[in-house]
This record gives sequence, C-alpha cells and structure tokens, in this order.
Amino acid sequence: MNKRRGFSIWPVVVLILMIAYMLYTTIQRGNTGNYSYTQFVRDLEAGTAISQVVIEPNQELPSGTIYAMKDGKQYSFYTADVGRVEQEMLDHGYTNYTTTDVVRPSWIEQNIVYLIMAGALIFFLFFFISGQQNAGGNKMMNFGKSRARMTREGVNNIRFKNVAGLEEEKEDLEEIVDFLKNPQKYTKVGARIPKGVILVGPPGTGKTLMAKAVAGEAGVPFFSISGSDFVEMYVGVGASRVRDLFADAKKNAPCIIFIDEIDAVARRRGTGMGGSHDEREQTLNQLLVEMDGFGVNEGIIVMAATNRVDILDPAILRPGRFDRKVAVGRPDVRGRREILDVHVKGKPLGDDVDLDQIAQTTAGFTGADLENLMNESAIAAAKEGRAYIVQNDIRQSFVRVGIGKEKKSRVISDKEKRITAYHEAGHAILFHVLPDVGPVYSVSIIPTGIGAAGSTMPLPEKDEMFNTKGKMIQDIIVSLGGRVAEELIFDDITTGASQDIKSATGTAKAMVTQFGMSDKVGLICYADDENEVFIGRDLAHARGYGENVASAIDGEIKRIIDECHQEARRIITEHIDVLHSCAKLLIEKEKISREEFEALFTDKALTDSQ
Ligand code: ADP
Ligand code: MG
Ligand code: ZN
Repeated sequence: MNKRRGFSIWPVVVLILMIAYMLYTTIQRGNTGNYSYTQFVRDLEAGTAISQVVIEPNQELPSGTIYAMKDGKQYSFYTADVGRVEQEMLDHGYTNYTTTDVVRPSWIEQNIVYLIMAGALIFFLFFFISGQQNAGGNKMMNFGKSRARMTREGVNNIRFKNVAGLEEEKEDLEEIVDFLKNPQKYTKVGARIPKGVILVGPPGTGKTLMAKAVAGEAGVPFFSISGSDFVEMYVGVGASRVRDLFADAKKNAPCIIFIDEIDAVARRRGTGMGGSHDEREQTLNQLLVEMDGFGVNEGIIVMAATNRVDILDPAILRPGRFDRKVAVGRPDVRGRREILDVHVKGKPLGDDVDLDQIAQTTAGFTGADLENLMNESAIAAAKEGRAYIVQNDIRQSFVRVGIGKEKKSRVISDKEKRITAYHEAGHAILFHVLPDVGPVYSVSIIPTGIGAAGSTMPLPEKDEMFNTKGKMIQDIIVSLGGRVAEELIFDDITTGASQDIKSATGTAKAMVTQFGMSDKVGLICYADDENEVFIGRDLAHARGYGENVASAIDGEIKRIIDECHQEARRIITEHIDVLHSCAKLLIEKEKISREEFEALFTDKALTDSQ
C-alpha cells in the first residue's frame, strides 16, 4: 500500500516553489540590462554621452549593477567588479557618479527556501503528532475524509432479479428492504430492526451484488467502502473515516452503509502480528461506537461482507451491532443454472450449447467464476470471428477458468507426459468403477497452470447435504489412484501425488477425528478448529487430548489409508488393460471426454468376450 498517498502532492509543491525562487533570483541577477561594459567604456571615451551614473553594489562584492543616464534614457548593465568600473570612470575623468548602499535582500527573501522547508517540516510533524494524539480528530485538509463511494437511488439499478439463486438469502433480506421502504410500519408496533447484517461467504459468491440489490430494491442511497480502505496511512485516519462515513449516512437516511471485506478492520483484537494493528483497533472501536451511537430505527442499515467470519472480533457480532448473519454459499446446480441464465443474456448461443450440462460440471464454481466462464467463452467465439458461442468455446474456457489456463506452449518431456497419463488414468478408472463417485467428465494431461500436471474431473450428479462413510472411503481410494498407477507401471514414483496424498489424509483424518467413523477412536470429536487463525491467540491453544489418543488417531488414519491403498491397487490391477489403453489415448490426444473414456471399458469387454 502506498503509505504516502495523501501527501505525495506536498513535496512536489515545495520543490516547485524552490525552483521558482531560484529561477527568479538567477534571472534577476543575470539580467544585465540593455547595455554593456564595452559600450559604457566607449561612451565614456566619447566624453559627452553619459550624463549621470549610479553604482549599485551587490551584497556579494565586488559585483553590482551600473545605471547610466544617456540621452535622457536609463541604461544598465551587470558588472562583476564595481571597483573596476569606478576606476575606469576616474581614468576618463568622469566624476558624476553616486554609489548607493549595498543592496541587501530582505531577510525573508534571503531565507525563503529555508522557511519553506521548515514550514513543510512543521506541517508534517504536526500532522503525525495530532494524528496520534486524538484518535483521528484531525480534519486537516480532508485527509481523514471517508472515501466511501456513494451511490444514489437511480444510479444503482441492481435488483434482486440480478442476483440469481440465493433464494433463502434474498428472503432473509426482504425484511430489511421492507423496513427501509416503510419504516413506520415497523416503528408503529415497536419492532426493533437489526442495525447490522453481515454477509458471509467465499469470494465471488455475490455478497457485494446482494448488498447493492438490497439498496436498489429499497431505493435508498448506498454508501460503500472497503475494509482495506480504512486501514492505511496514519494512525487515526481510519477512525476518522468511519466517523465521516456515518455522519454522511445520517444526513442521507434512510440508507445503507456497506463495508466490504470487514475482516480487514474487524479482526479479533489482540491477535495478529506486526505493524498497523493499533490503527485497526482504533478503527474497529470507532465503528463499534458509531454503531452503538445511532438510534435503533434511524433508518441506517449497516451491511458488511467477509469471507472470514471466524477471525472477526466477537464484539462486532453482539446484539445491536451485526446481529444478523446471512450465509452466502457457493451455488448448487440449480443456482448455477440460474446464474448462467443471467450471464448468457446478450450472448447468442449456438445450438449445441447445453447450459444444464455446464451447470452440472461446474460444482464449486462461484457466481463470479460462472460470469468469467461465459465471458471467456464469448471472447473465444469472437476470436474465431463467430457471432455466437458454441459448446467448444465453453469447454475451452472451462479449463481456463476452472483449473487454470491450457498451457500448450510449455515443453513437457515425453516421460513426464507418460507418467501424468498413467497417473490420471489411475484416478479415472477408480472414479468409473467405484459406485458413489464419478462418473468422469473429462481426463486431461494438459497442465492446469496452477501446479497440477493433469486433471480428472468427475461429473457431480447432485449436491448432497452430507457425506457417507462409504463415499469418503471411495474418495480416498480415488485420491490414491494416481500414485498406485505410477507404482504399478514405473520403477520409480514421483512427487506429483503430494496433493492427492494430502487430500486423502485430510479425509481420513476427518473421518476419525470429526465424524466418529473409526470404532477404535470412537464417537468423539478431536478436531481442532482448522479455520482458526494459527497465530497469536491460537499459539496457546492446547491440543486437548493425550499422547495415547494421539497415537490411536494416527494409527487409525494410517489403517484407513493403507486399506484404501490396497483396494486401489486391486481395482487398477484388475483393469490394467484399460489403464494402458487410457494412458495411450491420453498421450495421443492429451484430453479425452467421458464418452471416449467409457468406450475403453466396453471395447475391453468386447475383446474379452470374443
Ligand atoms: P463477492 O462480493 O461475494 O466477492 P461479488 O458480488 O463481487 O462477489 O460478485 C462478483 C460478480 O460475480 C458479480 O458482479 C456478478 O457478475 C457475479 N455473481 C456472483 N454471484 C452472482 C449471482 N448469485 N447471480 C448473478 N451473478 C453473480
Ligand atoms: Mg465483494
Ligand atoms: Zn492425482
């Protein structure tokens, strides 16, 4: 962050003033007038031309300026040595001259540069000190003014219909909209309307969009500011921004104040490391003071968004502050389908585009991802000079948006390619064979650009509320498939499976410590909150169980992984023909579709039965 953002103008101003002054003085000094020494001497020799001379010595003797009256006009020139001019005049017997006092520039003139510099210094010091002393009471030059962007009714034309899916969330917020529209309805029956609503969810799920839609629906002004805007520059500025923001809002009530990324200011106090956390605490305190300060039904609703509710200071969630929490999750299949509908508006689609299928294959995508997907597809279509999007554009963009860019340019050795092909084929076979996972949507050995050498993407049939033990076991088996294939085919194994192993271990650990799926460990939750910040507060967090339990847990995790490993080996060995043919096809085509992959099994069945 640019810490001096608010100041950058001042050094420039000072510099310009200094340069201007120097130029001014040099021009003055260098101004030798309309006459020259040679000319003067010549005139002296002529004897009659010059009527009167004034010598004006400079402060830096012996230089000075000579003024001579000639034919009723005044001429002047600069000389480096007034003594020489005087001598010259005496030599020519010219005595009608006067010498003025040495010209002394006024004290101010002499020291203006230093004055400016000292002034600037005092200014800076004053700003620092006052900023530190009175928690942001400093309003000098608007440095502390809130930079909240205000969107007024009319400008904000986002409505609930622009937010696809998220039906429950909209329902939750409907009441807020209604309150902003008809506050009397609520105040009449003495209802207390929440002051603050916090939207919680992963980035790109539409939290900002939702807050805007609430303002749009209610037709009230929308003040938005990001938490990270608060936390910058000097101590006290954030707090003063909060104050200004609320002051502005009060003048415009009813309205909505939206604080994006509130976790940047409202982190749990007394945690975190390093620098500006005094500043953050002051900002947070000011925010709490302001929220407590305005009356219950004043018509201001503070909305906030974060993706880290776990790190928020509990004080902010107390009644009378952000006491309403709305979880904005990743969309389910239906939600994704609706979001796609929103974002294909104005984008002509070819006949082969199947939005239902895209919605199905994009599990985990957020609204922002889907918007990005459709935009990329439109770009791909435009690049090929087509006026409509075809399925292939989307397929290409899918890889780009979902798992990184197809990087065909990077040179991959044949050996790498072969290993990756077998690795992915291993995953794919297990996905296909095991009942609760898969089927496979695509298998690819095109690098994803985000570290993975290839990818095997399952096609989620439906979004499930909870997992079963059987499915979790199968997830682990699938994760290990890549490594198993490498073991079976090559003498050596690679580091490429580290992510797979990590996720397998994670699942196994959750089964044992969270879901009570291990008889040996039992129905006890041993999991620590893994989402907690692991610095500061949590350093002192005790594990809460003894060595015996710890080793039992580790033993169970290992047992589950080992059994899954055995099973993966068994299944892949059984389908070793498919492993070879799949790897071969992958090496040849780099990417195969579901149909091509499933055909490998039927081909095999055909040849077997013959
Ligand atoms: P967040 O604030 O949760 O990070 P945004 O509201 O900024 O997410 O969403 C970014 C963009 O993604 C939006 O401008 C919109 O185009 C798209 N988007 C996200 N969620 C949705 C949704 N539910 N419906 C339609 N578009 C969405
Ligand atoms: Mg946002
Ligand atoms: Zn893998």
